[in-house]
Amino acid sequence: MNRYIVLGGDILTFTAEKPILRGMAMLVEDGRISKIATAGQFDTEECERIDIAGKLIMPGLINAHHHFYSTLVTGLGKAAPSKDFNEVLNNLWWRLDKKLLAEDNYISALISALSAIRKGTTTIIDHHASPFAVTGSLNQIAKAVKQAGLKASLCYEVSDRDGEQVCKAGIEENADWIKQCEMAEDEDLKALFGMHAAFTLSDKTLATISSLVQDLECGTHIHAAEAESDQRFNIEHFGKRVVERLNDFGLINSHSILAHGVHLNPKEMMLVAERGAAVVTNPQSNLNNAVGIADVCKMQELGIKVGLGTDAMTVNMLEELRVGLWAQHLKQNNPSSAFMEIASTLIFNNPLIAQKYWGAKHGTIAEGGTADFIVVDYDPHTPLDENTWLGHIIYGISQARVDATICGGKVLMWNGELLLDIDEAEIKARSRELAAKLWDRF
Ligand SMILES: [Zn+2]
Repeated sequence: MNRYIVLGGDILTFTAEKPILRGMAMLVEDGRISKIATAGQFDTEECERIDIAGKLIMPGLINAHHHFYSTLVTGLGKAAPSKDFNEVLNNLWWRLDKKLLAEDNYISALISALSAIRKGTTTIIDHHASPFAVTGSLNQIAKAVKQAGLKASLCYEVSDRDGEQVCKAGIEENADWIKQCEMAEDEDLKALFGMHAAFTLSDKTLATISSLVQDLECGTHIHAAEAESDQRFNIEHFGKRVVERLNDFGLINSHSILAHGVHLNPKEMMLVAERGAAVVTNPQSNLNNAVGIADVCKMQELGIKVGLGTDAMTVNMLEELRVGLWAQHLKQNNPSSAFMEIASTLIFNNPLIAQKYWGAKHGTIAEGGTADFIVVDYDPHTPLDENTWLGHIIYGISQARVDATICGGKVLMWNGELLLDIDEAEIKARSRELAAKLWDRF
């Protein structure tokens, strides 16, 4: 089915100019929304018509910072208690990622992608680590993303923490993946140059990456000032704050994503804004790791387009959005603050960030845009209009069921049932086997 009309539901476009379309139908052709008009305006003789009356259409949601590789950690209780973020890394994540094997990377990504479909996420910007299974890891993830029918930007997080060989392999994995994506011109898969965080990267490594980033003309994806310790380490060892140091190596450009930014000062925020880079906030992860709450209001005020990610805490972007608002109320010590600043992260800024890689209109519902959209089972019990739609998303739609997920025109889920050519029960069973083995090695 590559040509069909969807009609009967209100459409939230995720654009400020015309946020709600009523009584309109969408013609989907060859993966794009080729026309939006009233149903009567279509010549529909040979075209299937899908009526979704009483439901709502929204763009497929975008997760701007994720880690597919952490999927197999669900339920793992063996990590030692950690008193701060560095201990969380040492006791859990840096123990776990060392044990990941090629098939773990693939299954983690596939399970996570299927969960994302169920929650209406169609675009994922991922940041991968598997230091003892580096080479080819991005292709293993890519295979899963393709099977699930989603769109993803991938990168490998280079770090000096596991020695020179692993670092070199990570650099090569990024460079190979970036070249492969350029050659393939795949509409679904994109690339960034990944780095773990400034506090695990030497000047020598940053210099090597810098010259590659200039040659490959690519964006970067790095954890920046997630915890205060990242700033402390960089000041103590290099005499510079995180953003200043990365910027001195030319590693912050208009296609860069700095994840977290919890401990950026105003000078760093202004520098990020000047470079046109994005900060992606991950409120649930920050709360869970007790690293603080990013000042999303200040960053937006200083001109940064702040996006929203989940850091793999969930694949549910609407849940993350809600928690982001509650967290920001606490941060600003004001329950009336931050509504637009937080709402815009997912609804306006994630599309703007994704458009840098996937092109105009990505993440919105618009004629000529890619047909990535979801159908939500939401029949509002209060007026839903141009003034209330953002509040409906945070307080109402976020609690509703995603009925259908369509990506590139392909129906991945309908009436809550996955329509993919894969055996989910078999994949889950394999995932449980691999997780048990991984936990034994942990
Ligand atoms: Zn992260």
